[in-house]
Order: sequence, then C-alpha cells, then structure tokens
Amino acid sequence: MQSIQAFYPQLAEPKKVIITTHQKPDGDAMGSSLGLYHFLTSLGHSVTVVSPTNWAGFLKWMPGVANVVDFEASKEVAIALIKEAELLFCLDFNVLHRTKNMEPVLAELECTKVLIDHHQQPQEEYFTYGVSNTNKSSTCEMVYDFIVDSGFADKIDTHVAQCLYTGVMTDTGSFRFPSTTGDVHRMVARLKDTGFNHTIVHENIYDSFLENRVRFIGYALLNRMEVLYECNTAMMSISKNDLLRFRIKTGDTEGLVNQLLTIQGIKLGALVIDRDEERKWSFRSKGDFDVNTFARTHFEGGGHFNAAGGRTDESLDATVWKFKKVIKQYQEQLQ
Ligand code: 5GP
Ligand code: MN
Repeated sequence: MQSIQAFYPQLAEPKKVIITTHQKPDGDAMGSSLGLYHFLTSLGHSVTVVSPTNWAGFLKWMPGVANVVDFEASKEVAIALIKEAELLFCLDFNVLHRTKNMEPVLAELECTKVLIDHHQQPQEEYFTYGVSNTNKSSTCEMVYDFIVDSGFADKIDTHVAQCLYTGVMTDTGSFRFPSTTGDVHRMVARLKDTGFNHTIVHENIYDSFLENRVRFIGYALLNRMEVLYECNTAMMSISKNDLLRFRIKTGDTEGLVNQLLTIQGIKLGALVIDRDEERKWSFRSKGDFDVNTFARTHFEGGGHFNAAGGRTDESLDATVWKFKKVIKQYQEQLQ
C-alpha cells in the first residue's frame, strides 16, 4: 500500500468513483462516505456510495443519503456500478469480510483502491494507496485531513461539514473519548464555521427513535442484564424473540452496550444479539482493558482498544456460556 499523499495527483482528473464502507454503517461510516461523496462530486468526479447493507433510521436525514445504493436491496445495479469503477474508496473498515456479501465482488476488482480507516491491522495487500491510523478519532477526521492535505480545504461546504461532524460526534461519544484531541476540536471549529446547525445533527441522531425502541431499552436493562462483579463486567444477551417483540430494526440497538459501562466500577461491557445469520457481539471497555485483542482472540472479531465487535455461529446460550468462561481468565486484568 502506497501513501495517501502519492494518490493526491489523481484527484485532478474526473473519474468513476465508488465509495464503500462496512455493513450496517454507523454514523462514522455513513458520515465519512457521504462527506467524501460531496467533496469528490464538487471536484467533478462521478461518485456513487454503495453500502453493503441497509442502515439505521437515524441516518436517513443525512445530505446525499437518498443516493446511496444498498447492495443487498439492489444487487444487480450495485455490481454493475462497482465493475465500472475506476477508483474504489474503502472507508471505516480494513478487512474485506466487513463488507459481507460484497466481499467476493470487491475481491476480484482490479481498479485503483484507496483505504481511509482507523481500525487495527489493515489488510494492506488489497489497497493501492491508503492511510490507516488507529490514533484518529474517526474516519470522518481522516477524510477531513485528506481534503485539507490535498489542498482543497475551500471545498468544505455545509454538506461536507454536516456529514463529517456526524461521524466524529458518534465515534467520540459526543467528544468524550480519549481520542478527542485538540486537532478534533480545531476541525470541529472549522466545520462549524461553514454555518450548519449542530444541535439538529445531535437531535437527528440521538432523539429520533420510536416509542418501541425506548421501551426496548428499559426492558433489556431490567430483564437481560447480568453483572459479574468479580470480573467488573456487565453483560447482556438479546434473543430473537426480544427483537421480534419490540419490532427492533437496524440501528435500534446502537448505543445499548454503552449503558453497561454506566455502572460504577464496571470496566467491560459485553452485548450479544441473536441476529438471523450469526450471534453478534459488541464489547466496550474503560481504561486499559484491550477489547480489540479480546474480540480477536475469542470471538472472530476486532475493532479498537476500547470498542470492538465479534461474531459466532454458535447458539446464543452457547456463546454466553463461553463468554462467562473465558472472562474468568481476565479477572485480574479487570481489577
Ligand atoms: P460495534 O460494537 O459498534 O458493532 O463495533 C465496535 C467497533 O468494532 C467498530 O469500530 C466496528 O467497526 C468494529 N467491529 C465490530 N464488529 C467487528 C468485527 O466482527 N470485526 C472487526 N475486525 N471489527 C469489528
Ligand atoms: Mn469509525
């Protein structure tokens, strides 16, 4: 993988561009993809964002989101677009399997590929150019750096700013995680100067759920949470029945795992959800417990030091049992 700076000269010549991100895109995935989409479009490129799957209702207000192609819902259209691409941008993920059913299509693609991402251990051999920096708060911050470093800071308009603000806000827990550096705040100041309304962004993301989702959170905390005090761990498992009962849709479980860390003394929060095709884990930690390594070692996953995910084909009961067993090995580290 060559440096991202070596790629900049190619921005000058209009190209057919595809931007993609990880399945079930979150605020940072969608924000960075759409921020880059607006920027590249303003330079005269012909750009399409293709998401591997559908996305949460709380992202549906974003400028440009109506033009995003859902690979699962429009597979033939998406494949035709991807095959025509001269440039592929991969944002907010670094291993191809995070694009789910798109993986085989991307794997055989021969165009120029650019990575912009902040997760650990990228699949470098796949990408022509790229930047991978785990110290960055968000992929949105990296897209901002990309725009500024390539000499196009003047192209940051309110649409670009709103999109990039969304991802840096969601990935930093509204500017509270340690990744929120002075550079992040300086970037936010420059984004804000374009004139967008940041209060509306917060409301759209955090205060736009339906009643059933709010009741589901109450139900889950009351009935599905277990606190393992000897390991300073709180865990929660959500069954298929729970999802059906509360009519849970993509995005409705976002943020639930963070609730577990609000208990005093708890250093590890773990949430597992019985999805159709797999049991999906989310891990969050406070302080020096490395959930990236934990997820990689035991649950086929990865992510960041304090926020990671994983998966398994085992049943819900079996994976919960396994979690309770392996967590005992970490009892001392979690003190
Ligand atoms: P979440 O728990 O919100 O799904 O994911 C937390 C973080 O871990 C995100 O940055 C996400 O991209 C990453 N992540 C989630 N699941 C996986 C996985 O299965 N593999 C890897 N490598 N990263 C994951
Ligand atoms: Mn991210």
